[in-house]
Formats: sequence, structure tokens, C-alpha cells
Amino acid sequence: MEMIRTICCKLTLDATADAHLRATQVAFNMAATWCAAVGWQLGIANKITLHDHVYYPIRAQFALGAQLTCCARDKAVEAIKTVRQHGDTSCPPFGPTSSIRYDARSYSLLASDQVSLNTLHGRVRATLILGDFQRQALADSAWAIGGAELIRRDATWYLHVTQNQPVPVHRPIRSSIGCDLGIVNLCTTDDGTQFSGATVKRIREKRFRHRQRLQKRGTRNAKRRLKKNSRKEQRFQKDINHCMSKTLVKKAVVEQKALRLEDLTHIRQRTEATVRRSQRRQHSSWAFRQLRDYITYKAQQVGIPVILVNPRDTSRRCFVCGHIDNANRKTQAAFHCQNPSCGHIAAADVNAAKNIAFWAEVSQPIASPLRR
Ligand SMILES: [Zn+2]
Repeated sequence: MEMIRTICCKLTLDATADAHLRATQVAFNMAATWCAAVGWQLGIANKITLHDHVYYPIRAQFALGAQLTCCARDKAVEAIKTVRQHGDTSCPPFGPTSSIRYDARSYSLLASDQVSLNTLHGRVRATLILGDFQRQALADSAWAIGGAELIRRDATWYLHVTQNQPVPVHRPIRSSIGCDLGIVNLCTTDDGTQFSGATVKRIREKRFRHRQRLQKRGTRNAKRRLKKNSRKEQRFQKDINHCMSKTLVKKAVVEQKALRLEDLTHIRQRTEATVRRSQRRQHSSWAFRQLRDYITYKAQQVGIPVILVNPRDTSRRCFVCGHIDNANRKTQAAFHCQNPSCGHIAAADVNAAKNIAFWAEVSQPIASPLRR
């Protein structure tokens, strides 16, 4: 299995290079559109099989070189596959400003932030505008440079370079850490480690009231501040999720355990149905999905498996005796087993985290590698 990431870089280039790339972009997408139509008609969604039908016609009709012809074919085949998966009845054309696909042989990264790109008129050079993050990422020898997508937005070109790395061999794993996600405590693990939601809640409430005041006012200035606040809130949420995922993955490495999380599609449904309205606002806006993505990404980098489990009954089942009863959950915080021969008492989210760690059935073995 491979991990894939994409590094986005802005380009600067001279007028000749720009003109060559624009012409190539039009020809490339006409070729890919034609190729997709042929593949669709013949019922072929395999690169090698389609190759014989399209290679020479593309070169003759659209004047593309050998490499770009193969890239257009690949773009077409991927589109056919996607369209088939969705059960559509035709294959849509690519617009003249759609991206140009480059494989590892049709472009190259050069010294001093230069890139050389294949066009209809030979290779052109452009300069990559790199920040520290991009420069480090592209120079990181642990990641191999793969293909790239060249995109034009208005008059600016961007190169999205993909990099890949094999997923590290899994460590010896002894058992799992169960993670219960919630509102009062954002995350509770089965050994009782908690990430409190108090700060998040306080700040969220404050922002929410502020937002309401601004919305009521409705002036242009108020609208600008609303937008600014929402960006601030997203950054804040991202920070919390980064921090929490980092701590959880570190814990898993130290204890040599896998991480078990509830399958989030279910979490969403459950909270919509059962959580009070005032809480729902905080809950559904809280990016659980983002948290899971961060955990999965960080865990994969160090070879820790992430296991998603079915969240059914995790909060109302007794961890000790297995008795399932709504009445077990005395309050939001307290769990008290109603089975007379058991009577187990625990913090509700610790009980849930233990169910996730030990009893809940696996709904997907391991989350798939993420694209960034
Ligand atoms: Zn019990």
C-alpha cells in the first residue's frame, strides 16, 4: 500500500511559455475528450487495451507528442472508470481549460526551483514559487516524486505535484485503544485519558453569540467580520484536531496499540437524533471527520492501524456484563448498569471507550490511505 500526498506550487513563466502551455492545454483536453469517447463507445476502460485504438490517431489529429498522448489516454481512462462507477450513461467532455496531466516522464523538477514541462512545441521552463513547506516536501527523499496536474486559474498556472511513499510496515500490535468522541469531552480513551471540550465549548459559545449580533446588524462591515470570524474558527478547530490526533497517535506508539474509533457516518446520525438542540449546533459543526482524517494520516506515517467500529450500543451497553439498556445511562456523565447482578458504575464516556476498545464489531478493517 502507498501513501500519496500532493504539493501545490504556483508557477511564474514568460509569455512564450504561457502561450505554449495554453495551446497544449486546449489540444490535450480535446485529445482526452476524443479518447474518452472512443473508450466509452468500445467499452474499454483499460489503458493498455485502449492504447492500440487511440495512440496514432491522437498523435495525428492533435499533434501531441508520445508522452502527452499517453497522459491524455490515462486521463480519459480514469474519467471512464469514475463515470461507470456512478452509473452515468455518457462520458462527459473535458473543457479547454481543464488540467493537463503530466506523468514522471513528461515533466521534470530541476535545480533552483525550475520545472521543465512538455508542450506541443517542445519543453518550456517555469519557476516554482515555493514556501518553506513546499521546498522541504519536494526535497524530502523519503517521498518519491510522481506525476503532476497542471492547472490554470485565471492567468495563473499551478503545478500539483504528487509524491508517494510506501506505508510503513505495521508494528507489533498487542491490543487497541478505544476512543470515544463527544461534546463534554472531545475524546475519552478506555484508560480514562480525556481531552476536555470545555475550552472549545466556551470559545464556541462566545463566537456564536458574537456571530448572532453581527448577523442581526447586517451591515457590510458586519459581513466582513463574519467571514473573518469563520476563518478564525476553522483555524482554531484545525489546531485542536491536530493537537488531539498527535497526542493519541503518540500514545498508541508508546503502548504498541491500534486505535479504535466509532465509524463517523453513524455518529452523525445518532447525534442528530438524540442530542438536545443546543448541543447539536456544537456537535454537528465540530469536525469529527477532520479529526479522524488527521488521526488516520498521522497513524499511518508511523505504522499504527486505525480500526473503525460500529458505534451501536457503545454508550448504553455495560462494559462489564454486556447488559444493554437505555436506563444504564443515568445522565450525560454517569453510567450505572441496571442489571441487578452487576450494578457497574463508571463515567459514561470511559464505559463507552471500553466498549469501543473491546466489544464493538469492526465496521471497516483499516481506513484507506488518504490523499492530501
Ligand atoms: Zn453490567
